[in-house]
Amino acid sequence: MAAKKLVLIVVDGMTPAGFERALAGHRAPALSFLAEHGTYQRATSVFPSLTPVCLSSIATGSGPDVHHIPHLVWWHRGERRIVEYGSSFAAVRAAGVAQSLTDTIYNLNQQHLSPDAVTMYEALEDTGLVAAAVNITCYRGRTRHNPTLPWVTKPAFGPKRFFFYSLFESDATGAPLAVRNRPAGSIDAYASAVGRWLVTRDGFDFLAYYLSDFDYASHTHGPLGADDVALVRTDAAIQALLDAAGGPDAFLERYAVILHSDHGQTTVEHAAQLELPLARFIDDIVVTASNRAGQVYLLPDARFEAADLARSLDGEAAVDTTLRREGSEGVARREGEELRFRPNETGWEWSGDASILDHPDAFHRSWSALANPNAGELLVSAAEGWELMDIGGRHHSGGGSHGSLIEGDSIVPLLTVGVDAAPTRITEVAPAVLAHFGVEVPAPMRIAAPAHAA
Ligand SMILES: [Zn+2]
Repeated sequence: MAAKKLVLIVVDGMTPAGFERALAGHRAPALSFLAEHGTYQRATSVFPSLTPVCLSSIATGSGPDVHHIPHLVWWHRGERRIVEYGSSFAAVRAAGVAQSLTDTIYNLNQQHLSPDAVTMYEALEDTGLVAAAVNITCYRGRTRHNPTLPWVTKPAFGPKRFFFYSLFESDATGAPLAVRNRPAGSIDAYASAVGRWLVTRDGFDFLAYYLSDFDYASHTHGPLGADDVALVRTDAAIQALLDAAGGPDAFLERYAVILHSDHGQTTVEHAAQLELPLARFIDDIVVTASNRAGQVYLLPDARFEAADLARSLDGEAAVDTTLRREGSEGVARREGEELRFRPNETGWEWSGDASILDHPDAFHRSWSALANPNAGELLVSAAEGWELMDIGGRHHSGGGSHGSLIEGDSIVPLLTVGVDAAPTRITEVAPAVLAHFGVEVPAPMRIAAPAHAA
């Protein structure tokens, strides 16, 4: 018997606690129905736990070492410029609005995402299956799609069924414009209209259904506040798929489901500018920070080393841990103490204080981030309660954020229904999807640093 079709639902920024509250509070009938019929567990995100990195990891089944997307904002060494995928409107203005839109809409997929990585859409469609993607920002596929709106000029290459914020639509679905009113949930309203259309027609074998409004609300109102503002809407966007199939039972007769989030969120009370403690290096470095992670790039001929930068961040309240490479080793530094680590054939070897990397799956995630050729020479994971201001000077103090190695940013809820797999990392979702369809998992999805055995 052929495998059931599969729907992957990614709820941006929903924490395990938020997911569990939703079930306990009886405020999310669609989530509750799926949970009753599935297996729930927690899984780890990647580092930095920021959406462009996470969605690229989900779509390619690999970490930043393989897909090469390093952060929400980064320094492009080859082009000597900042790439900003949309930390805030102010950050987008600072990076240049047209450039930032081009980077987010096109370049992430066509240029920045490593050609050696394989997306799940590519792997599935190469075997003749039909993949669909709604709003997910890592969408690379083999089908050319001309833009829907007149001010967008270039084509994009996505899966056969491709819907991207009203900018690209492989089919006319009658969905309302996506970007009418973000705080009121117009993005997910667009997604659910498209999702309803796709399920009604059973128009795919695999659907990646990405809901982003929960994260948006959580940034503004904090992880707890998002329950009141966005949970009901998020659930309604999932219910729309169930209804389109003729009801929840009919939906599960036709589809297997994997539902998870890309990263967590934690409460933010303070914001810091990462440039300030690094001021004496400023002619030799580029700082790219956003949310709860930062990167520092050494310019060519810099008179300093990453270790000097790391030392100068000792005692900074906003900084939890820094990471850097030294030869074949990774070095984690916290409050003046260091831990050196590297993978070997059986796991990890390290020297120094292993408690410096006591975060979830930390050796693996740190190594993967450091092994990304687009990463800075120094990576900064923010301390609990702190955010690092973006290049527009914006932050979410008083609300919520994510990006660091700490548990609250890093652990996600993960639910499988009718899937014979139990992914423990978001990078294990794509291989699970391919295995569900009996599609061979390509080599780049199998390159993974060993698990954190410490
Ligand atoms: Zn976010």
